Formats: sequence, structure tokens, C-alpha cells
Amino acid sequence: MRTLISTEELTSFRRCRRQWELGSPSRQNLEPIADGGLDLADAIREALAVYYFPGMWDWDRSMVERLSLAALPRFLPAASPELDLAEAILARYFRWAPAVDRFAPIRVTSGYEARVPDPRTPGQGLLDARGMPVDCAGRIDLLVTDEADRYWAVHHRISRGAWTSEQQLRLSDADIIDSWGWQTAYPGLTIVGTISNELRIDLADAVPMAPPSEPTTHVAQNVAGGGGRSFPQHQRAWVGSDQSVEEVRVDATDAFRRTWIARSPREFELAGTRVGSIALDMLGPNPLLYPTPSADHCPTCPFQDPCVAMSQGRAVDELLTAYRPRQPAAESGRIGDATWGTGRGAAPPRWRSRQTPDARGPGP
Ligand code: SF4
Repeated sequence: MRTLISTEELTSFRRCRRQWELGSPSRQNLEPIADGGLDLADAIREALAVYYFPGMWDWDRSMVERLSLAALPRFLPAASPELDLAEAILARYFRWAPAVDRFAPIRVTSGYEARVPDPRTPGQGLLDARGMPVDCAGRIDLLVTDEADRYWAVHHRISRGAWTSEQQLRLSDADIIDSWGWQTAYPGLTIVGTISNELRIDLADAVPMAPPSEPTTHVAQNVAGGGGRSFPQHQRAWVGSDQSVEEVRVDATDAFRRTWIARSPREFELAGTRVGSIALDMLGPNPLLYPTPSADHCPTCPFQDPCVAMSQGRAVDELLTAYRPRQPAAESGRIGDATWGTGRGAAPPRWRSRQTPDARGPGP
């Protein structure tokens, strides 16, 4: 059986090996018992997944906005400050977004599994100690096509207190590795860049409600004559534009910032090699399990109490009773995350033919 590593594990392993040891599904696999449901940022992501559902993209947006807001109480307690805050920031986002949504959504909150390359042997996949392949699993918040039919991977950043700098975004593994993973998992699909869609929830109440904005470039899901629901994906690839892609483009207002960053194929290739290097360290016979305390990541770490005890040389058995084996993530069956059946969401030909060999179509 293959080894499957999640992007969360890769991040945790690099951030702090003690945290990885305690929480990784392949190690102690622990999570706090008191960990109840989604946090505010995850709930906002869920609402945005409804807002950007491909099949509703050409609907009256006011109707979709109501559906998006109606999703929040499924994830946040009723009449709570978190619910009020989520509704406030999203109401303002819905006024701003139409003017800068210069794309059509293809998939929302959608997972992938990609074969990890061996960084020591170009062209070969990494094998674990049993000689079995190693795959990397992750997901992207949103896959979109712009007005020239180029694919972009979108990452929602729900933040407090500060914007993410352009350099941080350029270096973001969360963006680059997921784009590499998608391209690897779906051959024939080329992502030209990443979009960071940043919402500052700390500014929700400080920003007045603006009047609704009008779309400057509405990229429709259903486009007569130029593609759309009835056009298979490989035809859309042919009509892909050769217009050059702007290297960095920023749309910003008081509480929202959207940054488009063009990425080269070489950048994604190097990201894959980086995934292979991390996996090689992680799957080695005896990875060293030292802690990496930091003001950046310790405050949000769920293992602070046992970590302090370990660092003091105390026993942790009693403290670990506050944790349980990690529960499998509930798959919501979210609309828009599982099929390619909404026109622009038609499967790339090679991926589709791998699933149904008899339905093989012409290649791009
Ligand atoms: S509290 Fe900090 S040092 Fe300790 S496990 Fe968590 S991230 Fe690592």
C-alpha cells in the first residue's frame, strides 16, 4: 500500500517536529478532545465555497449571497459574536468582490493526490522503506479560469491584524505546493498563477458598508459561442489565450486584498522537488523530534501543555488524556467539489480518459 502524506503534515513537520510527532496521522495522531467544530476562518471559507459554487456563478448574485450567509449557522453557534463577525465581513465582501472577480470558478474546496518526486533521481517517484510509492494529498480553496481561459489557484486568507506581504505570498508553500499538486494530479491542466484572496476580519466593523459594486469583467460559466457548459475542456484549452500574464496584480480596499501572482512551470517543478525532500526527511528511519518554539506558531499550537511538560522533563501521560485519536474529517459532499460536470469544469481529457478508458477523446 502506498504512503499518503498530507500538506498539513508537511507544514507541521517543517514548523515543529514535536508538534508533528504528536498530531500527525502517521505518528501519535492526537487532537484535543475539546476541539469542537470549525473556527471562524474555516466557517468563512465554507460560506465562500457556496458563494463561488460554479453551478451558481451565473445566478443573480443577491440570491447566492443569501445562500452563502445561510451556510454560516451550520458551522458557528447561533447568536454568537463569531457569527455576527462572519456575517459582517462577508456582507462587506459581497459588495466589493463583483468588481474584482475577473474569473469564473471551476472547483471549490477540492482535493488532489499527487505522486511525490524523488529529489535524488529526476523523473522518478519517491518510494518509502517498503518500496511503495509516496503520494501527497492536499486541497485548494478555489480553481478559476480568467477571461483568457487560464487557470489560477485561489487561496482564501482569513487574517487578523496584518496583511500578508508580497514577498511572503511569493514564497508561500501553501499556494505553490497546492498548485504543483493539482497540475500533477490532473495532467493537461496548466495553472499559470496563484491568487491570494485576503479578508481582514479585525476590520469588519471598522469598514462602512459600500454600495454594491458592478462587475468590471464578468467571466461567465455559460458563454454562447466561446465555450461554456457544452464545450469539453480540451477545446477550451485550445482557445486559451497567448496573452502574457501580468507578474503581480493587486486589487485592494480597506478590509480586502486580492493578489494575483503569475508562476512559472519551473517554480512548480521546484515545489515538487521540495515536497520530495521534506518527505524524504519525514520518512527516514529515525527522524529527530526536537521542538521549535516560536512566537509565530506556538500560540496556535494545540499541544502547548504537553510540550511545556516535555521541555521541563516531566511526565505527560496525565496531560495527554485531554487528547484523543484524530477523528476522520467529515466529508460534507459539498457541491462543486467532486465533479467536472459544469461546463468549464469538464475534466481535462487525459484525466477523464484515465477514469473511463473507453471514453477517450482527442488530446489537446
Ligand atoms: S508549543 Fe511550540 S514548540 Fe511546542 S509543540 Fe507546539 S509548536 Fe512545537
